[in-house]
Amino acid sequence: MGDMQGSLDGFSGKASAAGVSGESQEGQKKRGDEEILGVELKPGQAVYSHSRLSTFEQCPQKFKFAYVDKLESEIEGSIESFLGSRVHDTLEKLYTDLKFEKENTLQELLDFFNSEWERHWTDNVLIVRKEYSSDNYRKMGERFIVDYHNRYKPFNQAKTIGLEMRIVIRLDPEGRHVLQGFIDRLAYAGEGVYEVHDYKTANSLPEQDKVDVDRQLALYAIAVKEKYKDCRKVVLVWHYLAFDKELRSERTDEQLEKLKKDTINVIKEIESAKEYPLKESALCQWCEYRPVCPRWRHLYETEKLEPVAYRKEEGVRLANEYSELKDKEKEIADKIAKISEKIMVFAEQHKVDRVYGSDSKVTIWQKSCVKFPGKTDPGYPDLVKALRESGGLEEFSTIDRWKLEKAFEQIDMDPKVMQAIAKYGKRELLKRLYLGKRG
Ligand code: SF4
Repeated sequence: MGDMQGSLDGFSGKASAAGVSGESQEGQKKRGDEEILGVELKPGQAVYSHSRLSTFEQCPQKFKFAYVDKLESEIEGSIESFLGSRVHDTLEKLYTDLKFEKENTLQELLDFFNSEWERHWTDNVLIVRKEYSSDNYRKMGERFIVDYHNRYKPFNQAKTIGLEMRIVIRLDPEGRHVLQGFIDRLAYAGEGVYEVHDYKTANSLPEQDKVDVDRQLALYAIAVKEKYKDCRKVVLVWHYLAFDKELRSERTDEQLEKLKKDTINVIKEIESAKEYPLKESALCQWCEYRPVCPRWRHLYETEKLEPVAYRKEEGVRLANEYSELKDKEKEIADKIAKISEKIMVFAEQHKVDRVYGSDSKVTIWQKSCVKFPGKTDPGYPDLVKALRESGGLEEFSTIDRWKLEKAFEQIDMDPKVMQAIAKYGKRELLKRLYLGKRG
């Protein structure tokens, strides 16, 4: 349920400056489940989820809002997430009823979907694509259900074991790093083959190589293999409902072991985080923390103002003035470039190297100089070779400060080198303005 990020991440822990630790009351209530699943949590132990890790990877600032500060947002969630939840509810009903030998007709499923839609709908649901109404999304959901029903009826491809099934994934033998997740549907296909089914309502269809490295369902495979001793194979199945298409993938034991290590590394990164920088991306449009995010807050605050108050608002005024001056600056720079060219031509034609105005003079400076190839020019390697062989490299090579600072910030250099140069680096807060279109 990757496109419903956060909604399944109900087991929220207490946050510390280092990351996330402790259990919420909800976590305490569900303690019994962990015991059934054979994972005994220590008091205060953090439980992560794929969605929590993804949030950190997507934007550490969003992670802080959600899991460290635990901010309530005035935005309910996106229509995409709302649609996903209603479709999931419907497919859950379909398979729950089947367990009791009740097969819903297509019309019964559609009626259920629509009544759930009405029951949960609030006007606080965020519709980013303003050209579409909630009804467009509701009809999309109906189409997903019709297609799914027609494709899988009578739904006997495999035996359903669990629906919205909570699983706990142990990433190391001692259970120091634990994740939880919810499997949309776990099914048994016979002969030791288990299937992890996931319903996707997203409007984009990934390529096979993307699902072959998908983390979420692969993590669930770890838990399924551990829980069912007869498990020979776990097949990961994504139902891309918007395309009436099924994607399947499997993982080897070696791949799952590597996944455990990689996931532990992400957890360690979260737990050692001291800063939570924001990462702007296209996903910001769907982020429920936009009203409090430093990148968007001013927009939210000013959008609510009446036209007169809006024009008078200090930030709006300053940004407008800055933008106007920048436009003029560009206009002037273009004019200066054109006049410079004309002055050069004039000086050349009149054989002078200074041109006089009423109270100014423009001097044409020229000098013939040697140019060596730059780093990206074809002759550069030969130049370096010649300098090295002649013993001149040391004297004429300079440190690429930008590259050095970037490698240092990203800890992308030999630790010995890092240690040796650390005392020469001084942390400064750089500030610049970037002008762009509001969009
Ligand atoms: S709006 Fe964007 S930058 Fe701000 S917290 Fe959300 S994802 Fe991060």
